[in-house]
Amino acid sequence: MDYNKLADLLFPEVDKTPDYWENKYKDRKLPQGAEVTRYAPSPTGFVHFGALFATLVNKLTAKKTNGVVFLRIEDTDKKREVDGGVSGIVNTLKSFDIDFDEGATFGGEYGPYIQSEREEIYKTYAKELVRQGKAYPCFCSEQDLNEMRETQEKNKENSGYYGKYAKCRNLTFEEVEQKIKNGEKFALRFKCPYGENDKVEINDLIRGTRIIPQNINDVVIVKSNGLPPYNLAHVIDDHLMKTTVVIRGDEWFPSLSEHLQLFEAFGFTPPKYAHISPIQKLDENGNRRKLSKRKDPEANMDFFAENGYPIGAVKDYLMTLINSDFEDWRANNPTASIYDFDFSLNKMSASGSLFDIVKLTDISKNYISHLTNTEVYALALEWAEKYDQKLFESLNNNKEYWHGILNIDRDQPKPRKDISHFKEIYNIYEYMFDENFDGNVVFPEKFQKEDIKKVLTQYLNYYDENDDQQTWFNKIKDLSEQIGYAREVKMFKQNPESYRGHCGDVSTIIRVAVTGREQTPNLYDILKLLGKTRLQNRFSKVLEKMS
Ligand code: GLU
Repeated sequence: MDYNKLADLLFPEVDKTPDYWENKYKDRKLPQGAEVTRYAPSPTGFVHFGALFATLVNKLTAKKTNGVVFLRIEDTDKKREVDGGVSGIVNTLKSFDIDFDEGATFGGEYGPYIQSEREEIYKTYAKELVRQGKAYPCFCSEQDLNEMRETQEKNKENSGYYGKYAKCRNLTFEEVEQKIKNGEKFALRFKCPYGENDKVEINDLIRGTRIIPQNINDVVIVKSNGLPPYNLAHVIDDHLMKTTVVIRGDEWFPSLSEHLQLFEAFGFTPPKYAHISPIQKLDENGNRRKLSKRKDPEANMDFFAENGYPIGAVKDYLMTLINSDFEDWRANNPTASIYDFDFSLNKMSASGSLFDIVKLTDISKNYISHLTNTEVYALALEWAEKYDQKLFESLNNNKEYWHGILNIDRDQPKPRKDISHFKEIYNIYEYMFDENFDGNVVFPEKFQKEDIKKVLTQYLNYYDENDDQQTWFNKIKDLSEQIGYAREVKMFKQNPESYRGHCGDVSTIIRVAVTGREQTPNLYDILKLLGKTRLQNRFSKVLEKMS
């Protein structure tokens, strides 16, 4: 067979040779050891939590080595594509402060970075394979292929286009020519040079070295619509874009031998590979399952934005899933950039990480506790503007007051950890707002009504907004003594029958009367922020309801 003639017959429109592209895309000038990585999503319209995970792993790998991370859109499967899929991905990632050194919408010298714009490049290389006798046209119809599959199933044979089933492998030039003249459409298949017992050794940066069976199928590398599937497209792209590490989901792991065969057929050096396991979740029965787009709202990145988890917290959480020693590092470096962490691909778990919202909540509380009140205010305001009009107005109308609230127990070595996401911020502090206070509070049962009344009628004689915390507390002790309570808890414990209670009880009565809660942050700060007039009003309301 004259393969040159066949190549021209199949791809008459292709007038370039691979040399043209090889010259156009020069080697990158990067420091020794720099890795080039890429995030290569298909624009299916849903940005999965795993997408941020994979992007971050790519970014960390590139950053750590002073390399490059780029964004490539893999849209050759038009059936899976949705409108706005590309901007959806880019915007979601941008909203998590993830950008790329180059790529779709970012620009760069190795583009176009959208696969559907690279048809000419793919065809040049496909034509070259035909010229070398490594690929051939297949005219089998959908029906032929279905029949083949059924026969294979019936005979319990491996499925695929191989051996005696690879009918079009042996078409003569004249047969091909005739079919093309008849207007028949063809797909291009790779002529797989391996057989059933062949194996290949692969070295995955996360999974280690493995020996896996060679692919034996003559896989389609250009579809009848002229576009290649993922296999050929990514091989050409990663070669021309000079990718050094392919980091991708482990659903691609089984096709690795097929991909490596293509690198080999073109004579390209393959990149290194790291297959990451999907993020999993424990189901009700304690079994692991994949985080599911259908069942788990938190699988969608929008969940985090809508609930107001700070992006820094979500990223910190992802980092703990990526490398488990991140948490210790973070404890010692509470405000450092995640990119300063000594990330490593081979510290990643090959069996996959478990998503745990409780853990995310803890990390987020910790993260927010290390921000200043001004930072929390700004983030909450930004979130509320988009998602919560009531909070937005409250934050705007009570700017100083909110700053005060957010400062309670913050500026200290062990800051308070109560806020995990902005959606709950108003509820956490709702008692600071009069609109939520109607005087209907419930005191712990152990307090006598008359004692409560005594505290609420007398405390204002003691309270002075200008007192420092020590003086303030001494006054609570004075009041305690006055109404037959112990000045000190210790005194009470030594002689419980001599007192009606102790100074802590008096604080509790005041706390419940102004906030309706038995547990709150520092009462001194709360009272100071509320101010004496509010305090007076709240006490009156409570007394009114009690009478
Ligand atoms: N487009 C592929 C996907 O969305 C990406 C695989 C890769 O990163 O090479 O699964």
